[in-house]
Formats: sequence, C-alpha cells, structure tokens
Amino acid sequence: MKPAKLVMGALVSALLLNSASLWAAPEVNLYSARKEALIKPLLDKFTEKTGVKVNLVTGKADALLTRLKSEGKNTPADVFLTSDAGRLHRAEEANVLQAIQSKELNASVPASYRDPEGYWYGLSLRARPILYVKNKVSPETLSTYEALATPEFKGKICIRSSSNIYNQSLVASMIAVDGEADTETWANGLVGNMARPPKGGDRDQIKAAAAGQCVIAVANTYYFGKMLAGGDAAQKTAAEKLAVFWPNQKGRGTHVNISGAGVTAHAKNKDNAIKLIEFLASNDAQSWYAQVNYEYPVREGVKPSNVLAQWGSFKADNLNLSRLGDLNSKAVMVMDRAGWK
Ligand code: FE
Repeated sequence: MKPAKLVMGALVSALLLNSASLWAAPEVNLYSARKEALIKPLLDKFTEKTGVKVNLVTGKADALLTRLKSEGKNTPADVFLTSDAGRLHRAEEANVLQAIQSKELNASVPASYRDPEGYWYGLSLRARPILYVKNKVSPETLSTYEALATPEFKGKICIRSSSNIYNQSLVASMIAVDGEADTETWANGLVGNMARPPKGGDRDQIKAAAAGQCVIAVANTYYFGKMLAGGDAAQKTAAEKLAVFWPNQKGRGTHVNISGAGVTAHAKNKDNAIKLIEFLASNDAQSWYAQVNYEYPVREGVKPSNVLAQWGSFKADNLNLSRLGDLNSKAVMVMDRAGWK
C-alpha cells in the first residue's frame, strides 16, 4: 500500500469511528436495588418510547451504595434507584448523587416525597402502619405509634430490629414531631412492650403475630400486600389473620416512606438519566410500578392496586422525607439507648 492510501485509510477509519460513536444507540446505566422482575418491563417500555437503551445492574441496596462509593468517578452508573429516604440521604451524604433540575419531576412528585435540592425523587410510596390480629385486638384500642408504649400493650408487640432502616426512619419521623427526649421515653416503653427480642424481617413479625407470639406487628404495607396476594398459601393464611390499622389519623398521619432514584454524581448520560426518572414518575409508569410491588403511587390521581384499595384510604404524614435522613443518626442513638436490639 502506498503512503497516500495509508493516510486515506486512516482518515476513513477515523471518520467511521467518529460516526460510530455519533450513531451509537443512546443509553443509560441504572443501578437498582429493585429486583429485575419488578422493574425490567417498565425499562423496556422506556426504551420503546424514547429509543434509549437501559443497562440494568441489580443488587442489595447497601451493597450498591458501597459499589458506587468505591467506583467514584469511574462508575458506569447514571441513575441509582433504591428504597427508603434514609438510604437516599446516605447516598447524597456520600457524594454519589448530584442535584438535578426538572420541572416535570417537580410537578409530578409531591414536595414531601423528593429532596428539596433535587438529589433524589420518590417514585413509589409505602406506609408503615400497625397490623393487629383480628380476633384478639379491637381496633378501638389502637390510636397512635406513641400509644404502643403504654402498659396495656405489655408483651404484645412484634417489631424488627433497630438496625433496620425502616424502623430508623419511623423513629426519625417521631423525633421530628415529638422531639428527641419524648421519643426516647417512647422507645423505652416500646422495648418494654415487645413480645420477644427483635428478629427477622417485616414478614416475620406478621407471621409471629399469626402464630400467636404477639397480637400487634409493625410492617411495611407492601410486605403485607405480597403475603396476601403473592401466591404463597401459608403466608396468605397467616396474613389473613391480621388487619391494617392506620395510626395517627387525628394528628400528623401514618408514617410513609418511598423508593426513589437520583442521578449519580459522575453520570456520563445525564440527560437520559433525567429522562428515565421522569418516565418512572409519569402517569403511565406510576400505576404499573406501584402495582407490581404492592406500593402506592407517589403522584396523586393514580389508583392503587385492589389489594391496597381494600385497606381504605388514609392520611399520610406530610413530613418532608429528607428530614428522615437528617434525623437518622439521632434515631439510631435513641433506639440504642433504649436497648432496642
Ligand atoms: Fe423492604
């Protein structure tokens, strides 16, 4: 080959390479603590609608955050999706998220369910009500989370450990309204009323109540929904012994939390990352997204699934969920001092 041809050849391949990258299919990389089956069909819809391919990595919430931190600037992730505002706050504190501006998200996600600065946005809602064994507790005797610390509930309550973010967020929501000192007094009373030392997850508290170990369980709504409708006969039988009581209806409302997402600090596909979160908050996506995991939609006007609808509507605490993150370390200390295992 003559030199001129070589140069031409190099030029042509450079042009080809260039156009290849220009023509590369647009994509977005998602780290999701939500399991593939619970999000993939929606991601496919997003790709169908926008032409943006989604590369999905799933994992446990805390492991994904550790991975984001250790990957730093080199992370391939553009979006981080996880459960609990407390965890999203941890991600923000760890500098793995960036604040974004989106008129669409500000319009679709109510203010209390998103970070005030735009670091994360709630995409689905879960409540943490009181569940009671139907033939053993009269709902008239129930009122608030606070009342669970009174002597009449001695030895009657099942609740999981204080190392769990859902309980940390519940206690943080109480510190926000009752103050630290009163919440600690409450936690002392609650620990004294536990039927057994905390063990297992939310479903295990419901199972223990059904098995007669306690008469009250505190658990997230989607676990209860999954037990009732998820197709496991033993879990269904257990869950059917319990009913939902919405606490604090005369006051601030029942404690709620979210699963949500934020754009990563080093996102290489920032525009597509924002597009994906906007899509997940859209009307179309909301009902599907909430239904498959027995969660509530974050936006108003979208109907919850039939399983959830049968528990009736309730007043949710409208505390800005970013406060749960702010108060997380105080909550952990309060629970620790109260001897909540
Ligand atoms: Fe969970």
